Amino acid sequence: MSRRLQGLPASPGIATGPVWWFRRALPIATRMRGEDAAVERMRLQRAQEQAAAELRALREGQRDRLSPEELAIFEAQELMLRDPELMAAVEAELAAGASAEAAWMKAVEAFAAQLAALPDPYFQARAADVRDVGNRVLRHLTGSPEVLTMPDHPVVVAADDLLPSETVRLDPRRVLAFITEGGGPTAHAAILARRLGVPAVVAIGAELRTVSDGALVLVDGEAGWVDVEPDPEMVRQAQARRAVWLQERAQAEAVAHEPAQTRDGVRIEVAANVGSMEDAREAFQKGADGIGLLRTEFLYLDRAAAPTEEEEVAVYRALLEAMGGKPVVVRTLDVGGDKPLPYLPMPPEANPFLGVRGVRLSRQHPDLLRRQLRALLRAGVGFPLRIMFPMVSTVEEIRWLREFFEEVRAALAAEGNPLPQDLQVGIMVEVPAAALLTEHFLPWVDFFSIGTNDLTQYTLAADRTNPAVAGLADGLHPAVLRLIRHVTAAAEGTGKWVGVCGELAGDLSAVPVLIGLGVQELSVNPVRVPEVKATIRRWSMAAARALAEEALRQADADAVRRLVAEAHL
Ligand code: PEP
Ligand code: MG
Repeated sequence: MSRRLQGLPASPGIATGPVWWFRRALPIATRMRGEDAAVERMRLQRAQEQAAAELRALREGQRDRLSPEELAIFEAQELMLRDPELMAAVEAELAAGASAEAAWMKAVEAFAAQLAALPDPYFQARAADVRDVGNRVLRHLTGSPEVLTMPDHPVVVAADDLLPSETVRLDPRRVLAFITEGGGPTAHAAILARRLGVPAVVAIGAELRTVSDGALVLVDGEAGWVDVEPDPEMVRQAQARRAVWLQERAQAEAVAHEPAQTRDGVRIEVAANVGSMEDAREAFQKGADGIGLLRTEFLYLDRAAAPTEEEEVAVYRALLEAMGGKPVVVRTLDVGGDKPLPYLPMPPEANPFLGVRGVRLSRQHPDLLRRQLRALLRAGVGFPLRIMFPMVSTVEEIRWLREFFEEVRAALAAEGNPLPQDLQVGIMVEVPAAALLTEHFLPWVDFFSIGTNDLTQYTLAADRTNPAVAGLADGLHPAVLRLIRHVTAAAEGTGKWVGVCGELAGDLSAVPVLIGLGVQELSVNPVRVPEVKATIRRWSMAAARALAEEALRQADADAVRRLVAEAHL
């Protein structure tokens, strides 16, 4: 009997195949002896608290979707962290001089083995839960890398969630789809799925654990569900739909290099979001009309010191060249808070997303910003360069940034450097305050690019990294759409363009709504360019405007999605 698990749609497409659970192999504890029992006890306590918080978030996030038994799995795992018998065994090991990781794993394994030996199958199954929770704690204690062996045939990858360090170790040729317990549409597994062009369903909850390795599943990344052990007729229909989807995608790719125009002749730019040289090559190859968002963080992260000006010039020039003369929107460094840099000491913050990030951090480190702007202006000579500032919240900030920028430009000119002629300066609209006051930003910018990932998290008060609130953070929420409309309405007739560069821009259901609201540029994951262009070509501007008007009047994101699904072009 087939059964259906409901999650959130995170990457469109249809796939059927066997499940392969992405399991984190037990990290190897290399430190066997502890220096001091009290220190080891504290380390273990911290790791247990982190594991408990993760479990609580998973449970809370899925509360209304889970059966009582499923909720109980997480509850039981959390209780295991405090199991008196287990902790007594840990304590004995610590007192004997073991390290936190050695004490913990020895006790966990003994506890799991005890359960596995019981005759009742229910308790035998709990042994897996004990090992799972043991693993979770050990991960926090060691952070050690894991070994991963994928099967040699294509599989549907199931996981609680995937970290970027883990996704890079998967062989993309053997991934048919992703299905995850936690995460949201802007989580890493979802972003990777869209990049690979495979379907993904996320935030399914603990029910996913009832699906065993090798079980046949049917994944519908548009509807956001997974059918477990589908009957042959369902598989046949899914395969037929998959063939249509792949064919439409191939057709879209064949004309991806042509501009995207609505049926009534309105041109919409479809650019790409790029975070590496490889992404830029892919964007060009997939027919992007330019780069709508270059995330420059890749140049700054994972290193001991900031890049030199010369280094930056070389990278920007290579990227501009790779795009063959198409416009490139470069965002200045957007780190801070949740993405610290080792060479920029920052005090820890209770709420990093509401803290010193983006341009707030740049203002504290003007040397770094100056170096980046100088590098951009030097690299941009002869290219259509656009410079964009992230996380602008107030008019005072843009005024400061603009003045700072003009000083850098004047200094370069005074040194006798040539300057780019085809240059624009703009801001990302990611904070509701900036969206609501667009008209006051107009004198300082040439364009606005709406970052719906952050704009949605700030509008709905839903942390984009917290799977427990992923269901709340849908960029098609009418509150977000009204903010977008506010930006486009203020910019209309001023000659300044408005784009969207959050993940929403690549969501095919959102495309007609966004263009109907007056958005002129969509910047999307490179692999999405062909399908986004194909979607634009199916709509007339008149129909898209009517749809957007209706969308603005809805009460929630689900209602907007229904409206789009039922729309007649
Ligand atoms: C956004 O916030 O929508 C955005 C595009 O920026 P990032 O995802 O890099 O924060
Ligand atoms: Mg952002």
